[in-house]
Amino acid sequence: MELPVETTGLTKRYGGLTAVDGISLTVRPGEVYGFLGPNGAGKTTTLRMLLGLVRPTSGSVRLLGRPPGAPDGLARVGALIEGPAFYPYLSGRENLRVLARYAGVPARRVPVVLEQVDLAARAGDRYATYSLGMKQRLGVAAALLKDPRLLILDEPTNGLDPAGMAEMRTLVRRLHVAGCTVLLSSHLLGEVQQVCDRVGVVSRGRLVAESTVAELRGTATLRVVAEPLDDAAARARALLGADRVRLVDGALDLSVPAERASWINAELVAAGVAVSELRARERDLEQVFFELTEGELTHAG
Ligand code: ATP
Repeated sequence: MELPVETTGLTKRYGGLTAVDGISLTVRPGEVYGFLGPNGAGKTTTLRMLLGLVRPTSGSVRLLGRPPGAPDGLARVGALIEGPAFYPYLSGRENLRVLARYAGVPARRVPVVLEQVDLAARAGDRYATYSLGMKQRLGVAAALLKDPRLLILDEPTNGLDPAGMAEMRTLVRRLHVAGCTVLLSSHLLGEVQQVCDRVGVVSRGRLVAESTVAELRGTATLRVVAEPLDDAAARARALLGADRVRLVDGALDLSVPAERASWINAELVAAGVAVSELRARERDLEQVFFELTEGELTHAG
C-alpha cells in the first residue's frame, strides 16, 4: 500500500536561513500523525513543500506515491494551511457551494461535509457570524469536499478556546475512524498527545524524534516502597534480573509494565516484605519534549 507521505532529506533554505533541514518522515495509511514543534521550527514550510506550494532546496517528497504537486496525487489530498478565505456575507453552505463549483466537486458533497464537521445546523448563517472554532471547522469542511484520502491541517487549533480545541479533536478522531489519514501540525504538546497515533518532533528545522507517544515516553517503571528495603531489592533482583531493579531515594524503581504490579506485590509479601506503596511511574512526556526541543515547545493546551 502506498504511503500517504514520505519525505527524504527534505531541505529548504531561504538565503542564509535553513528553515527545514534534512527532514525524513513517514506518515502511514490510516494514522493521525502529529507534526509537533515550536513556532518557527519549520512545520508550515514542510507542509507547503508536501503540497508542491514551495519548492525544496534539496531532498524528495512523495505524496500518496506521487511527486509533490502531481494532479492525481493532489486530487486525493485535502489541506488547510493558513486559514481559508471565505466570503463573510455568504453563509457557510453558500461558501462551500462556491468552492465546490471551482473545484469541480458535485454540490451533493456540501451537506455531507457540513454534517462531518458538525455545522449543518448553522450552515445557513452568514460566515461573518461564526465563532473562530466554526470558521476553522468550515475550513476543514472545505478541505473535505473532494473526499480526500489524506488530510493535511496546519495548526488547526491555533487561536481556539478549550471548547473549540475539543471540537476540533472530536472532528479529527471522527475522520480517523472514517478511514482518512490525517497529518496535523501543532506547537501544543497536549493537543497532539490526545489525538495522534504517532508524532514527529521538529526543532529548528530538524526532525529530532519520530515515534508513538508511548515510545517517546519510554518504559514505565514501578516504584515500590517496602520494608526491609534490602530484602525487597534482593527478591526483586531474583524475580526480574539485577538490571531491572534500581534503588532510588529509599525506594525501588522496577522496570516492568504496570500490569505486573499485583504479581510483584504478592511475591514481595510472600518473601516477608511489607509493601507500603506501589505505583506506576511514567516518564513525564513534557520533560521528554522539553529536552528534544531544547525548551522551545509551548507547554499548554
Ligand atoms: P509557525 O507555527 O510559527 O508558522 P513553523 O514551524 O510553521 O512556525 P515556518 O513557518 O515553516 O515555521 O518557518 C520556519 C522558518 O522559515 C522561520 O524562521 C521563518 O521565518 C522562515 N521562513 C518561512 N517562510 C519564509 C520565506 N518565504 N522567506 C524567508 N523565510 C521564511
